[in-house]
Amino acid sequence: MSIAIAIDGPAGAGKSTISKSAAKKLGFIYIDTGALYRTVGLAATRANVEPVEGKEVDELLSKINVELTFNDKGEQIVLLDKEDVSRLIRTPEASMTASKISAIPSVRAYLLDLQRNMAKKDNVIMDGRDIGTVVLPNADVKIFLTATPEARAERRYKELIEKGMDVKYEDILNDVKTRDYNDSHREIAPLKQADDAVLADTTEIGLQESIDLIIKIIKEHS
Ligand code: C5P
Repeated sequence: MSIAIAIDGPAGAGKSTISKSAAKKLGFIYIDTGALYRTVGLAATRANVEPVEGKEVDELLSKINVELTFNDKGEQIVLLDKEDVSRLIRTPEASMTASKISAIPSVRAYLLDLQRNMAKKDNVIMDGRDIGTVVLPNADVKIFLTATPEARAERRYKELIEKGMDVKYEDILNDVKTRDYNDSHREIAPLKQADDAVLADTTEIGLQESIDLIIKIIKEHS
């Protein structure tokens, strides 16, 4: 039987960086499920389809093909109709579209099996919003990773500036708050801590300490 670790939490809590490092250290495969919603969002943007519930989105889902694969460094690659869109989905606009499109039930249903199948084959650390509550309710360890909106916005701001993007801190903070609201108030699979998840707050601690904390929680609970 493979081992599954579910890491959920709001945008910018460091889930992907922390999960990626922890997975490497433990020899697990890291799966970033947000990339899937971002890819469906990108497909909608390209097709000029509004990210709202309805026939247009459902038709789009029936036409597109979303796949997860890994390169030789073990990094996740997301394919939209065989095109590697892993970098294209990392803009603030793609984040906002993903947040909107992820509230649509048919989009969540479309991505559910894909996520579950990934966890069947290998030992995984899967991060997202509803992994411990919906996707893998029987995960061996569940962690809810969070930090204050200001701390999360500050980190994302620095990350985007380092990538050479022209962004403002206030805009990022607003985006973080809007996404928090969207993610936790949607009817289907809202962002919430699973009853049996361990809470990890990284507001006051740095990256390495956060990674160590997550590894410690995984070892203690698996
Ligand atoms: O994690 P990331 O910021 O890349 O996720 C992009 C968006 O996808 C989130 O704002 C959230 O709305 C959605 N998402 C989700 N369920 C997941 C992962 C991401 O609804 N499991």
